[in-house]
Amino acid sequence: DDSRILQFQITLYGVDERLVMARDITRLHRLEQMRRDFVANVSHELRTPLTVLAGYLETYSDMADQLPPRLSRGLSQMQAQTDRMQNLVNDLLLLSRLEIDQGGRDDGPLDMAALLEAVRRDAAALSDGRHVITVECEDPRALVGSEQEIRSALSNLAFNAVRYAGEGRHIVLRWRLRGDGACLEVQDDGEGIDPVHLPRLTERFYRVDKGRSTETGGTGLGLAIVKHVLLRHDARLQIDSRPGRGATFRCVFPAGRLREIQSAQRA
Ligand code: ADP
Repeated sequence: DDSRILQFQITLYGVDERLVMARDITRLHRLEQMRRDFVANVSHELRTPLTVLAGYLETYSDMADQLPPRLSRGLSQMQAQTDRMQNLVNDLLLLSRLEIDQGGRDDGPLDMAALLEAVRRDAAALSDGRHVITVECEDPRALVGSEQEIRSALSNLAFNAVRYAGEGRHIVLRWRLRGDGACLEVQDDGEGIDPVHLPRLTERFYRVDKGRSTETGGTGLGLAIVKHVLLRHDARLQIDSRPGRGATFRCVFPAGRLREIQSAQRA
């Protein structure tokens, strides 16, 4: 039709050969758009019934002590699974929003020390004393971005460190200089990740160990969310890990995303 905008993917194969390939990717683009809309709509529609279910289960759990043990066990199983479904639906919705929206509307200079501390507290609650979690805020500059999105990315990385690093280990949440940019990183000294998995780690539902991930309560979407948040902030994710030697997840931001904070403002 007339309004159709053709999108071409052009690949150049070596200058000497002078061969140019052009492929019409309009259809591909439309299919991708349909997939995104479908996932967003389904997740949205699932939200209400799940909220109703969770509400009833909550009411019944108040009466759990009056129920026979078998029923009360079943009830807590239903609650746990409803919780999981709600987390999954919320993550799917968040991911769709990140893909569909252009972003940048609620960008502002972030108080990095406060952000790191807030995430440290949430991660410590999840860890329940099994890890020593510390914060290092070395770069005095502020990151200009969406507080909600950056917090969600950092929480995902910190929660993963708690879930996959194993017992009694150290986790560091750090904001530091890197080149002329800066880097937000989460470092653990846990089991690490085999390099063969690294290229696929940010794919939706990709897991190193399927069985364990279900048990740990992750949705399989955490790193996909991190990747999309970073794309919207001109940043990239670097994963550095060796089996048995821990893992470091680095979010690398360019200098253009940083702002000097006056000392009066900081105080
Ligand atoms: P989920 O945690 O819900 O499974 P993610 O996308 O957050 O999904 O993570 C994908 C996989 O990457 C996890 O299943 C886990 O196997 C691996 N992973 C993530 N963070 C770490 C870490 N700090 N140490 C070891 N493995 C990790």
